[in-house]
Amino acid sequence: MKKMYTAKCTQCDRRFRSYDRGDLLISIRKHVWKKHPKWMRARMKAGKLAGGPGNPTVGMVLSAIAQGIPVALALIRVVRQRRWNRLGAAVDSFEPYMKPETRTAWQAIKTIKNIDYRKGV
Ligand SMILES: [Zn+2]
Repeated sequence: MKKMYTAKCTQCDRRFRSYDRGDLLISIRKHVWKKHPKWMRARMKAGKLAGGPGNPTVGMVLSAIAQGIPVALALIRVVRQRRWNRLGAAVDSFEPYMKPETRTAWQAIKTIKNIDYRKGV
């Protein structure tokens, strides 16, 4: 049984589903550019400003993880999938330097974040 990926447009709540994660992202991107171009351009602009809401730096994530799962989740909850893929990978590279309990917390956070996306949040 193949896994079905689902996601929701944050602007109009339209749902998307696909068996392929890449296809899903492409169809959402197409939809957003077509239906919400203004919002998309604003987001592109905002994306360049590092450290703003929804765009935390690796350092911000690391210190949030050290403060505990709820703190870290509150910070990364608003980070969008594409940004999260890069941010998550960057934080992953710090794993060898984390304390064991921090590493455990980070694993849990990643799992929760991925569940959120599968639900289309
Ligand atoms: Zn939409």
